[in-house]
Amino acid sequence: MESRKSRLDLQIEEKKEKQKKMFVIAGVLIGLIICAAAFGYMATQQNEKPDNTVSQQTGANGTAEELPPEPLIPEVAEENLWMTRLVNSTSLLEDGYVPELVVVNSAGYKFDARAAEDLNAMMQAARDAGLSPMICSAYRSWERQNTLFDKQVVKQQNTGLPYEEAYEKAKTVVAFPGTSEHQTGLAADIVASSHQVLDDSQEQTAEQQWLMEHCWEYGFVLRYPKDKSEITGIIYEPWHYRYVGHEVAQYIHENGLCLEEYHQQLAEQKARLAAESTEPKQYEQG
Ligand SMILES: [Zn+2]
Repeated sequence: MESRKSRLDLQIEEKKEKQKKMFVIAGVLIGLIICAAAFGYMATQQNEKPDNTVSQQTGANGTAEELPPEPLIPEVAEENLWMTRLVNSTSLLEDGYVPELVVVNSAGYKFDARAAEDLNAMMQAARDAGLSPMICSAYRSWERQNTLFDKQVVKQQNTGLPYEEAYEKAKTVVAFPGTSEHQTGLAADIVASSHQVLDDSQEQTAEQQWLMEHCWEYGFVLRYPKDKSEITGIIYEPWHYRYVGHEVAQYIHENGLCLEEYHQQLAEQKARLAAESTEPKQYEQG
């Protein structure tokens, strides 16, 4: 009886000893994990430090030195928002939108009255440079855009595509009604009189070379550049010019953007400025 009891005691003691060891091992492991986490955190803090001090550097006398502010992305005034209005497959024109229009050439093409003068000035400057640019499309009514789109669907079907696919493919060639810039009256398709073809070869003409180089001076941008199809959702169109106003046209030209990217940058800038204005001041943080 006695010996059995002591053996039991021994077993219990062994068990307790094992549990103790387990606790010690677990404790060491937890300690190691905490140390590693703390180390990692310190490392990231150090990595982030240079960025945090870019906008404001503390001078030798302990006061914050203002660095020159980043150049601001031009934002048009409230009354000029029509100039930069984004119209694409996800940003539709409201139903029935019709701007005030004026006829801009002998063929009877119409343009938004507020931008027509700049369009005429650009065309005249190109002619003065010895070129023969020709507007082959400008303002389009809703009815006209509907007709063009339907025709394109049929054209795609004739290549052997089933209706659904032809419909989707047509959207990449002709803007879906309500998504065409031509409906704003702010876009013009301009070709060389000597080469009235709407394909990539248009970019080789002296007229396009001139327009691509100078259009921004008149408030226009080449709306669907070669390397931006992924963003615009529209094929390269070296003939489609869009009025956005002088300041924004220059910014887009100088930074090699498309209109979607301009709006994206502007939205980011607005968000950043809003966040900065509500952020606590430097001295309150530390
Ligand atoms: Zn066009």
